[in-house]
Amino acid sequence: MTVSTSIGRVLIVGATGFIGRFVAEASLDAGRPTYVLVRPSSENHSKNKVGKALQDRGAILLNGLANDKELMVKLLKEHNIEIVISAVGGERVLDQLSLVEAISSAGTVKRFLPSEFGHDVDRAEPVEPGNQMYKEKRQVRRLVEKLDIPFTYICCNSIASWPYYDNTHPSEVTPPLDQFQIYGDGSVKAYFVAGTDIGKFTMKTVDDSRTVNKSVHFRPDCNFYNMNELAALWEKKIRRTLPRTIVTEDDLLLIAAENRIPQSIVASFTHDIFIKGCQVNFPIDGPNEIEVSSLYPNESFRTLDDCFNDFLMKMEGENMKQSNENPASKPVVEAIAITATCA
Ligand code: NDP
Repeated sequence: MTVSTSIGRVLIVGATGFIGRFVAEASLDAGRPTYVLVRPSSENHSKNKVGKALQDRGAILLNGLANDKELMVKLLKEHNIEIVISAVGGERVLDQLSLVEAISSAGTVKRFLPSEFGHDVDRAEPVEPGNQMYKEKRQVRRLVEKLDIPFTYICCNSIASWPYYDNTHPSEVTPPLDQFQIYGDGSVKAYFVAGTDIGKFTMKTVDDSRTVNKSVHFRPDCNFYNMNELAALWEKKIRRTLPRTIVTEDDLLLIAAENRIPQSIVASFTHDIFIKGCQVNFPIDGPNEIEVSSLYPNESFRTLDDCFNDFLMKMEGENMKQSNENPASKPVVEAIAITATCA
């Protein structure tokens, strides 16, 4: 089986966002010519800072909107872009319809990765309002396929962090120190992937001939945990036990039904993952799907254990800062240095 080695020019849409930044960093790490589409009107300073940081590392910033078809055709042709990766946020998924049409018209693009980075939206069926986002992601998939654009769908499962049911970007929030909220009986398993690995493995697929027109599923054996195991891992890190409260299936359905955005969307995904088992209730055996570890068996994943160490260090840092300001305060956690990777 042959693997293409040519280095194509990559355009990343949404690189100033949560997932997109990991992808852009990985593209630069891989030494690829990396172009980044930046929304011209962004008044968000932290996002401007991300754009600047990527630029300092060698990324070329292009101003524009993914949904401006005419401009996108021009940019793709002008810069001879071969690979487009989109990581637009959940509420802007349909902006990609114009981008897909632009890719089709420009004729330079050899691979498109739409904004997926979660579950297989053709299999999973969360309750509303989460399902609305999946319907839109499916709509983008169907247009890509209709226009015969070579694609790869990245189904990377959960980001490595404590899966709070009411938080959009859980990896920026440290695991709990007061109590655990366990979904159902806490026994349904899920896969957790570090943001850096989402970026790293995504970039490996972009010109790999084995991933053309395939869904690539991320199922690292070492990061396969249920809520009870996740809680035990964190307790080991902080060296104390925490009380558990149960969030039942009905609780999650009730929060989803409240239709508060984004909390209800996160509750519906939490229900899908930890009650229905949407990440594990199917085998990866179709002709158009493949598991990422089978493609790159010699590449290791960061373990959840490592990621939890990062959270611990972050807390220690904050704690240290606090005790310098207030010497009477006591540390809440005690660091244990453990490093591990899994291949
Ligand atoms: P964010 O909201 O953090 O970032 C979205 C990015 O897209 C920003 O850079 C934004 O620009 C840019 N953008 C939005 N609309 C346009 C447009 N029309 N033209 C150009 N750029 C645009 O998104 P996330 O990182 O949260 O989500 C990305 C994907 O990852 C989604 O598909 C989401 O479902 C998935 N996801 C998966 C997670 C997991 O655990 N597996 C966790 C989180 C997300 P600007 O900076 O100007 O706002």
